[in-house]
Amino acid sequence: EEKERESLYILTDFAKKYFTNQLHNSEEGNLIGLSYFRERGFTKEIIDKFELGYSPKQWDAFAEHALKSGYSKELIEEAGLATFKEDDKKYDKFRERVIFPIYSFSGRTLGFGGRILRNDVKAAKYLNSPENKIYHKSKTLYGLFQAKQQIIKADQCFLVEGYTDVLALHQAGLQNTVASSGTALTNEQIRLIKRLTENITVMYDGDNAGIKASFRGIDMILEQEMNVKVLLLPEGEDPDSFAKKHSSSEIENYIKENATDFIRFKVNVLLEEANNDPIKKAELIREIVKSISLIPNIIKQEVYIAETSKIMGIREEVLFKELAQLQKSGN
Ligand code: ATP
Ligand code: MN
Ligand code: MN
Ligand code: MN
Repeated sequence: EEKERESLYILTDFAKKYFTNQLHNSEEGNLIGLSYFRERGFTKEIIDKFELGYSPKQWDAFAEHALKSGYSKELIEEAGLATFKEDDKKYDKFRERVIFPIYSFSGRTLGFGGRILRNDVKAAKYLNSPENKIYHKSKTLYGLFQAKQQIIKADQCFLVEGYTDVLALHQAGLQNTVASSGTALTNEQIRLIKRLTENITVMYDGDNAGIKASFRGIDMILEQEMNVKVLLLPEGEDPDSFAKKHSSSEIENYIKENATDFIRFKVNVLLEEANNDPIKKAELIREIVKSISLIPNIIKQEVYIAETSKIMGIREEVLFKELAQLQKSGN
């Protein structure tokens, strides 16, 4: 068991070095991979800091190289780096993709994300390493290894959706940024952050999916007795696209002016949906009280009830009644 994990770590590290070597030292990697990152505006420093890579077009380039270096088919398959067919053909999982290595908290390579180079191709935009004995996506946050010191220093963590959002914000100087990378946020991921800070600002994509995901994230973060703010980006923007259009100081100002506590965020979004319909407004109040009911700390609950009362123009007693009812019924 322990031996198998160790072998996986060694192969995954070998693969990471192969992909970065391809990016920097092969003609194809330079022409296709490096140009891709440069065209998206990523600097050499960021490309190096995150050890970004490139996996060549040739169907079995990596598998060949790994077999020649003595790694077994079984291990390569277990790592999810290639599949082997009966006719002895091999297929690299990440062929013709740029590579984002995923690290553990302490900096070991666990697996990879691989992005397609052109958006018009029918294949999935991102591929990720499969779950195995070393990679558990629900317990991993992309960028945490590179962000952890700054998270402690700033006593604050920015949570984004995607790989390139992490890169762009680190590049803009917000090095306390991590991503859940496509999976819905999990309790284990929140606990990883809680080791470093109690303060999370959720900065998901400015689209419907992003808003829905923020709502779920807020409730999970509150349940773990952490403080959560939300930054809504302009419609159609994600942190990467936003960062590319603004200077570092503009980004910092935008955050200062627009990061709102979770109540205000929910009110703003839901109030717009409710559109003055009294029934919907009542639902909205229940929705907010439900979030408050998830907070384990009674004093904090009181503070948030007072805040909601003020914003919504509803008496605190009414809100407390609703809260008591929710807690009696266990939600
Ligand atoms: P880019 O800027 O490169 O287009 P993105 O991060 O903005 O990427 P989104 O579509 O917003 O891409 O998705 C957010 C994250 O979800 C991605 O970074 C990736 O981790 C994950 N993801 C997106 N599409 C897929 C997919 N088809 N399969 C698996 N994971 C995906
Ligand atoms: Mn999105
Ligand atoms: Mn996005
Ligand atoms: Mn994007």
